[in-house]
Amino acid sequence: MMGTTRHAIVIGAGITGLVCAFRLQQSGVPVILLEAADSAGGMIATFEKNGFLFEAGPQCPRFAQPLWDLVREIGLAAEFVRGDSRAPRYILKDGRLHVAPFSPFSFAFTGLVGPVSKYRLLTEVFRRSPAPRDEESLAEFVRRKFDGDVLDYLVDPFIAAIFAGDSEKIGIESAFPFLARWEREHGSLLRGALRSGNGNSASASRDKQPRQATRTRQKSLVVTESLPSLGSFRAGLSALPKTLARRLDDSIRLRARVQSVESAETREDRDTTWRLRLGDGEVLSGAALVMTTPAYEAARLLQKAAPELSTMLSDISYAPMAVVSSGYDRARVRNPLHGFGVMIPPREKLSTIFNVWNSSVLDGRAPAGKVLMTSFAGGATNPAFVEKDDASTAAIVEREMGAVLGIDGAPVERFVWKHLKALPQFNLGHARTVTRIRKALTGMPGLYLAGNYLDGRSLGDCVRSGSRTAQEIAANFSNATSNSGSSAMA
Ligand SMILES: Cc1cc2nc3c(=O)[nH]c(=O)nc-3n(C[C@H](O)[C@H](O)[C@H](O)COP(=O)(O)OP(=O)(O)OC[C@H]3O[C@@H](n4cnc5c(N)ncnc54)[C@H](O)[C@@H]3O)c2cc1C
Repeated sequence: MMGTTRHAIVIGAGITGLVCAFRLQQSGVPVILLEAADSAGGMIATFEKNGFLFEAGPQCPRFAQPLWDLVREIGLAAEFVRGDSRAPRYILKDGRLHVAPFSPFSFAFTGLVGPVSKYRLLTEVFRRSPAPRDEESLAEFVRRKFDGDVLDYLVDPFIAAIFAGDSEKIGIESAFPFLARWEREHGSLLRGALRSGNGNSASASRDKQPRQATRTRQKSLVVTESLPSLGSFRAGLSALPKTLARRLDDSIRLRARVQSVESAETREDRDTTWRLRLGDGEVLSGAALVMTTPAYEAARLLQKAAPELSTMLSDISYAPMAVVSSGYDRARVRNPLHGFGVMIPPREKLSTIFNVWNSSVLDGRAPAGKVLMTSFAGGATNPAFVEKDDASTAAIVEREMGAVLGIDGAPVERFVWKHLKALPQFNLGHARTVTRIRKALTGMPGLYLAGNYLDGRSLGDCVRSGSRTAQEIAANFSNATSNSGSSAMA
C-alpha cells in the first residue's frame, strides 16, 4: 500500500491511461498505474516476425496535434515513419475498385453512384432542409438528405472501416454532432462546412499541420489535403506505449488486475479516498481514481461503489472485430497495391470490411519482395463473424481478398486477432448517456473516467482525454493543498 501522501491511481495502461499517468507525473502528482496485462498498450500491439511488422489494432493512424506533440515531447519524432495521407483509398463495387472521391471533381466522375445521387450531392448547397427534433440515425440522415446509394457506397464503407459501425444504429448527434449543427444552423451541410472555415470534420480542424495545407486551397473541400499526417514508428506503433511505460518507470504495475472498486470514504478533512482491490487481494487507495478501462469493465468495477453510474456505463455498446494480417510474396499479388487500401460496403455482402495495404503506406512493414496487408472483418453489421475459429476466419478473409486483389496462393506469414469488444459505438442516445455519466461524476469527488467511449475513439482523442483528466486532477490537488495551507495559517 502507498503511504499517506495524496496520490492518484490510474486503472488501465492503454494509450489513455499511459498519457494520463505521464501527465500526472509531469505535474508532480504521485501516481500509480495498474495494468491487468503483462505489457502496456491496450489495443496498440505490434508483433515482429521474419521481417514483417504486424499490428493487432491501429495500423497507420492519423497523428492529430495532441498525439504529435506527445511524440515529440517523449523523443520519438526521429522514429516516426510518415505515411502518405493522399494515397488513394478504394471502395469495392460489383467486384471493381473505385477511388474513393474526396473532392467535388472526383464526385462528379465517380462510378460509385449514379447521376441522380450526384445531382443531389452537388446541389445540396442550394437546398435547405429543416433538422428533425429527435436524434436520427446516420442512415436516416443520409437517406433524407441524399439517397440510398450515397449511403451504401459513399458513407457505409467509411463507417464500417473506421468505426466498425452500423449506420442504421449510429446517432447523428452522438457521432457527428458537427453535421447536425451545420444542418440546424445553415440548413445545408456544405454551407455549414464552408462557413465553419474548414471543409472537414471537427477532429481534422483541430490539427495545425493540415490547416497549413488547406490554406493554400481554401474552401476547396479536398478532404485528403486536410487530413493530418498518417504514420507509425520504425519498430511499429507499440513504440509509443513502450516509451511512455519506460518514462513511468516504477509508477506502472503490470499484471495488476483490479478486481473491484470498493468504496469512497470521506475523511474528517473532507478528502475523499477511493479504495480498490486487486486480483491477489491487495487493497490500494488514492485521493483520485481514474478508470481508463473500456466502459463495460468500468461498469463491472463500479457495480457496488456506484451502481447507477455502473448501469449508465453498461449502456454503451461495443462492436467486435476480427483482424487478419497476411504477408505475401509480391509476385503472387496481381494488384499493384498503389494506395492505402480498400473499403468494402456491407451491400457487397462480403465478410471483410476493410483491407489496409500496410507495406504500401509505410516503409519497413515487410521484407524485400514481400507485401503486408491487414483485413478487418465483423463489426456491428456482422457481429457473429468473430465467433469463428482463427483458421476459418483467415480462410474466409484471404479467399475474399484473393478474389478482389488477384492473389495467387497462401500467405507466407499470418497473424489473426479477435477483439470481441473492439470499439465503442456512438449509437442513438450515446451523447445523452455521456452527459448523464458526466453529471453523475460531479457527485463523486475524486473519481474520473477517461477513454475512447466518451469523446472519440481515435488515438488523438484518447491522448486528449488522458491529458485533460490529468490536468483536472492536478488542479484539484493543488487547490486542496492551497486550501489546507490557508486554513493552517489562519
Ligand atoms: C482493430 C482496431 C483498429 C483501430 N484503428 C485505429 C486507427 O486506425 N486510428 C485510430 O486513431 N484509432 C484506431 N483504433 C482505436 C484505438 O486503438 C483505441 O480507441 C485506443 O487504443 C483505446 O485506448 P484506451 O487506452 O482508451 O483503451 P484500451 O487500449 O482498451 O486500454 C485499456 C487498458 O485497460 C486494461 N484493463 C482493463 N481492465 C482492467 C482491470 N480490471 N485492471 C487493470 N487493467 C485493466 C486493459 O488491459 C487495457 O490495457 C483502432 C482500434 C481497433 C481495435
